[in-house]
Amino acid sequence: MNQMTKISGLGDAASKFVSKKQKLLIDGQWVDAASGETFDAIDPASEQVICQLASGGKADVDKAVTAARRAFENEWAQVRPVQRERLLLKLADLIEQNAEEFAQLESLDNGKLVFFARVVDVAGTVDFLRYMAGWATKISGHTLDVSCGMPGEEYQAFTLRQPVGVVGQIIPWNFPLVMAAWKLGPALATGCTVVLKPAEQTSLTAIRLGELIMEAGYPAGVVNIITGFGKTAGAAIVEHPDIDKIAFTGSTATGKWIGRTAIDTMKRVSLELGGKSPVIIAGDVAIDEAVAGAAGAIFFNSGQVCTAGSRLYVQKNIYDKVVEGLAAAASSIQLGAGLDPASQLGPLVSQAQLERVLGFIEKGKAEGGKVAAGGVRMGNQGYFVQPTVFTDCDANNTVVKEEIFGPVVVATPFDELDDILKVANDTTYGLAASIWSRDVSVAHKLARRLRAGTVWVNTHNIVDPNLPFGGFKQSGIGRENGAAAIDLYTESKTVLMKL
Ligand code: ADP
Repeated sequence: MNQMTKISGLGDAASKFVSKKQKLLIDGQWVDAASGETFDAIDPASEQVICQLASGGKADVDKAVTAARRAFENEWAQVRPVQRERLLLKLADLIEQNAEEFAQLESLDNGKLVFFARVVDVAGTVDFLRYMAGWATKISGHTLDVSCGMPGEEYQAFTLRQPVGVVGQIIPWNFPLVMAAWKLGPALATGCTVVLKPAEQTSLTAIRLGELIMEAGYPAGVVNIITGFGKTAGAAIVEHPDIDKIAFTGSTATGKWIGRTAIDTMKRVSLELGGKSPVIIAGDVAIDEAVAGAAGAIFFNSGQVCTAGSRLYVQKNIYDKVVEGLAAAASSIQLGAGLDPASQLGPLVSQAQLERVLGFIEKGKAEGGKVAAGGVRMGNQGYFVQPTVFTDCDANNTVVKEEIFGPVVVATPFDELDDILKVANDTTYGLAASIWSRDVSVAHKLARRLRAGTVWVNTHNIVDPNLPFGGFKQSGIGRENGAAAIDLYTESKTVLMKL
């Protein structure tokens, strides 16, 4: 495939950015991979090459970790909390000043609608970094009473919260810029240094972010960005003996490998993994609200959301009407390139993801599921899948059990709210769930009993910088965002003084 000359919908700034060969950010310098290897950034709407990316490997990770360690112990250690706050605020300002370029790059690289890239990804990133900036000056330990010692001895004890050190951060392709911010924000607020690896499918906004990190005035080595593949660059980060912590967001399979491997060098690990989130709609909900809620829960970002509402349970009295409405909504969605203002849903991110999702759809059909809408690829150029609604699936069907990470929902009716809890919790995952009802008591009861890290009521897929986010069960370990994120990036040190 040839390099694209003019990309429709891409403004001057983003066009200029993609016209250059991209590099790695190591110790404040933009450099080629030590191996000289590169790989293609692909536009998922056209399948054309956008630009070349550097394929980082072990040698590059080694250099990045050396720089991050030096910066952690020297330059960055001298920077006071209030300066860390100012730097994060500056970075947020710079992103805001370049917001449209970021939104276009994200839309081009990932396939998502440019409208959502603006209002969700870029605006959310700016807000998140500003929120985390505030934490830099608010990190504190405790003073504690002690009962130890001999009679007459006096002690003073307190805890300090200190940055965990050099952090390896590995992020996915569904919300590339937001995920970079969720990782970098708390690390930089607490005084850690970072080696960040974006997903190989979507590296552009992380690289642009790296440019702004240097422009904001961060000392060299505080943030290093290594583009490349999971099995090479990613594994080198996870296995590196001088990295103190790994923060990962991605698939449960990769997360399990990372967790097991990181333990060899006793790295701290936080994992935000997959989900198979239930959407439970009680019979007292208006049909149009139920349809819009269910559609938004699964089709947003083409279903490539770890909290996607992929299991839809609707109370029997409204089930037929809700499924009918959902199927009609799914069938009417206009698929197209994210940068095309006429599009209502973008492509999937990659050829591999297209094949994966179509494979699940075929399996769903083969196992007896009925297709109420979609169920096929759209066209033969670009990774587009028709929004798909399955009905009549058995609880053991693959499409009910496994995370698809695409615009595919399975609808199932239920009789009584008491029965649905067991069904909703019958999953190895536990990332999120939503309950739709006007009955506040029903909502509270289910919210308490659902085994999920986030439970939404009458909404879905809403996240906030101040709200802890993460999974029960095989959906992960740890909570990002809010005060919980500060705990993830700090060690507690106990100091005991005999007076
Ligand atoms: P997907 O299969 O959808 O690409 P992954 O969980 O494999 O999801 O990818 C999420 C992130 O994890 C990406 O940045 C990817 O490069 C990285 N990754 C994949 N495999 C490994 C690995 N073995 N070690 C470290 N990182 C990995």
